[in-house]
Amino acid sequence: MIQRTAASVEARHAPDSGLTWQQALATAINRPETLLAELGLSPSLLTGAQDGHRLFNIRVPRPYLDRITPGDPNDPLLRQVLPLDQESETPAGYITDPLQEANHTPQQGLIRKYRSRALLMVTGTCAINCRYCFRRHFPYGEHRMSPDGREQALDTLRNSPEINEVIFSGGDPLAVNDQLLAQWVSAIEAIPHIRRLRIHSRLPVVIPQRVDDQLITWLGGSRLQKVVVLHINHAREIDDAVKQAAQRLQTAGATLLNQSVILRGVNDSAGTLAELSEALFDAGILPYYLHAFDPVAGAAHFDVPDDEARAIVAELTAQLPGFLVPKLVREIPGKPSKTPLNF
Ligand SMILES: *Cc1c(COP(=O)(O)O)cnc(C)c1O
Ligand code: SF4
Repeated sequence: MIQRTAASVEARHAPDSGLTWQQALATAINRPETLLAELGLSPSLLTGAQDGHRLFNIRVPRPYLDRITPGDPNDPLLRQVLPLDQESETPAGYITDPLQEANHTPQQGLIRKYRSRALLMVTGTCAINCRYCFRRHFPYGEHRMSPDGREQALDTLRNSPEINEVIFSGGDPLAVNDQLLAQWVSAIEAIPHIRRLRIHSRLPVVIPQRVDDQLITWLGGSRLQKVVVLHINHAREIDDAVKQAAQRLQTAGATLLNQSVILRGVNDSAGTLAELSEALFDAGILPYYLHAFDPVAGAAHFDVPDDEARAIVAELTAQLPGFLVPKLVREIPGKPSKTPLNF
């Protein structure tokens, strides 16, 4: 008996205990009281967490939980997933669709804002629910793709020679099964003017087991140029398993980039961002964008004002080589590209 208990405790805490990514998804923590108990956090956080959870579900996969320091309510990884009292406050100017995406969806699942690239909303699901997400209010149900919708999206791509890059987005595109992704890729590959496949995903970070043999098979086998843009906000999100996942993606021919969001209490200093850039480079990933915070309702407590963000990036620029400094940008509806916030 005692031996069995010891073995199961060990298995639960070992990130590489043979868990498949599907199991990691299915066993993600989805109740505020479980999150607090697992991390030994004060029950005084429960009411706020429950209120926030009702607005946008808690979801924390265990491989990510393992990187959070128990007992520390200010842990920068915890802050990204734990709803606080403040989520129920919505100061003036914080809205549900700051990027006005509802106006930019000419058809199911395909968003086209920029000339040469089209963004395909492969799914509305994510492996983790980030409290600051600008899509936390997005009406995903309306964008679920039917077989008809899929054909329409492909027709648009076929009939738009100016599009040379398709971006898999969501939700998190890697939250769907490899069979579906492989089907998308082969349909897209058959369109001669599409050169590049880009995947925007946080899954290889929060569940590194996602980068398994099946994923490598369809990704590595494609004629398309491949770019994977990860989403990492803090150096401590990168552990050995994430490094391994990054390496495997590179082996499949992918160029690895990272986008972050500047967030109060997570990465709002030049020192923290410099550590992040160094850790990214160490894992073979280059910093790409640092997104200025979008005023999404429920996430005002993460806000870093633009002038402060500019000053932080100016300091970062003085510390690091240019290739380790992400571009500070904001998405402004109606513009032909992301807009740099220069300093
Ligand atoms: C951000 C974004 C892109 C990609 O922009 P890049 O500057 O090429 O990274 C494409 N389409 C949409 C709708 C986007 O929001
Ligand atoms: S993984 Fe990305 S899309 Fe999903 S909740 Fe987090 S920020 Fe939002």
